[in-house]
Amino acid sequence: MVKIRVRLGTVFDDTEFFEVKMNCTKCGRCCLNTEMELLPEDIERITGLGYRVRDFAVFDGEIWRLRNVDGHCVFLNPQTMECTIYENRPIGCRLYPLVYDDIEGPYIDRECPAWNTVKQSELDRLGRFLALFLARSRQTNQWVRIRYGFRH
Ligand code: SF4
Repeated sequence: MVKIRVRLGTVFDDTEFFEVKMNCTKCGRCCLNTEMELLPEDIERITGLGYRVRDFAVFDGEIWRLRNVDGHCVFLNPQTMECTIYENRPIGCRLYPLVYDDIEGPYIDRECPAWNTVKQSELDRLGRFLALFLARSRQTNQWVRIRYGFRH
């Protein structure tokens, strides 16, 4: 079957732009018990690989998030600690360890062992998109309903 991927025409179609430049050690810590928000663009890209939405995503009543299996993201290979969809991983995974707090605004999460390899220029470049990212994640449920036709 030919899979047709829809580009949604938002800034979040540009996955490469949202990669934080840093010296990631690929420890996989950020993939344990993940609560990563999924955007419509992520759902579209990952379903284009042949996965069904419920295979990799759960809805918490407001936000679609990555699914965990045995305490880690469904896409993490626990033997190698590598992401099995690395080239297609969600925007939020690319942005981490940049995170957002309503009071503090964008900041670098020090729980990431390589947090200090993220330059201030990366926080400046991408931090301004984090509020937009969170707002976009609140539109995912509507997209799932329209595109995949299921309700909760
Ligand atoms: S999609 Fe990949 S990078 Fe993102 S949490 Fe899952 S395993 Fe980690």
